[in-house]
Amino acid sequence: MELREIGEFGLIKKISRDAKRKAVLVGIGDDTAVIRDGKEFILYTTDMMVEGDHFRKEWSPPEKIGRKAMASNISDIAAMGGMPEYALISISLSSDVSVEYVELIYKGIYEVADRYGVDVIGGDTTHGSLMVINVALTGRTDEEHLTLRGDAKPGDYILVSGPLGGSKAGLELLLHGYQEPEKPIEKHLDPRCRMDIAREISIYANAMIDVSDGLASEVCHICEESGIGMVVEKEKIPLDEDTIRAAEILGMDPYEFALNGGEDYELVFTVPEENLEEVRDYGTIVGRTGSRGMGIKIRDERGINELKGGYVHF
Ligand code: ADP
Ligand code: MG
Repeated sequence: MELREIGEFGLIKKISRDAKRKAVLVGIGDDTAVIRDGKEFILYTTDMMVEGDHFRKEWSPPEKIGRKAMASNISDIAAMGGMPEYALISISLSSDVSVEYVELIYKGIYEVADRYGVDVIGGDTTHGSLMVINVALTGRTDEEHLTLRGDAKPGDYILVSGPLGGSKAGLELLLHGYQEPEKPIEKHLDPRCRMDIAREISIYANAMIDVSDGLASEVCHICEESGIGMVVEKEKIPLDEDTIRAAEILGMDPYEFALNGGEDYELVFTVPEENLEEVRDYGTIVGRTGSRGMGIKIRDERGINELKGGYVHF
């Protein structure tokens, strides 16, 4: 069987098995693993970036490659309502890469690490024909802040923390040889994560996830893990002006970028009605959850239809 037949998530299901230790509250299947530690929880996550697939040296200055590697991992800790703590950085390099270049990657890594109080405590360096950077990151949270994908309840409002589709718009601009609009390109090369608001949201949200694979994929994860359904209102999905302009230039659909693009690193969260006022400043309502029987739907110009998709890695 070829990987493309089952995709990334089909493969992960096949290679998963149940954890043996009682301390494992969440193993494979959320933004991070969650391990009980007394009254608190330790979070573990790892994400890899491969040259050619996730970055290109000709598009990205090395500092930005480093910053993105760190920010994408911190985003997963943020999505659990956690604070990041310790990072291990593994990197594969070809022999012709200059020392100065690697130092600049680490300048970017340390910039983001310092901003969020992360200590780099180890890693691995090896030779490879492609540059690969993997960050493994731990974090910590407590009962009040821990927010899983699987705790959404029917009747919750679904919110997103900021405009979507910018990163994919930037990638498409670069692929088609455009240097502007600059904002989406910057979003693609140097994304920020939402540590600034995640902790506050996590107090009020039932479920939360970060947007690494596109809104469609992320809401499907919430529904599957929570055993619920939902309807997303397409016209409520927030898009910024530059993403819309980029889509016009490219002759593409900006909603497609938001739904199936990914790497925006905004947060998608569900909130019960009684907590809505508390999070109104942190997000835009894009839909409502319901019973599992309603399925996962999107309302657009053509009515209410099945919502499918997300970024396909294979
Ligand atoms: P995210 O997009 O939030 O980083 P992923 O979609 O990469 O999450 O991963 C989903 C879940 O699958 C996570 O729990 C992750 O740790 C797990 N996972 C991904 N790849 C593997 C793998 N090769 N082996 C074991 N677990 C994996
Ligand atoms: Mg995630």
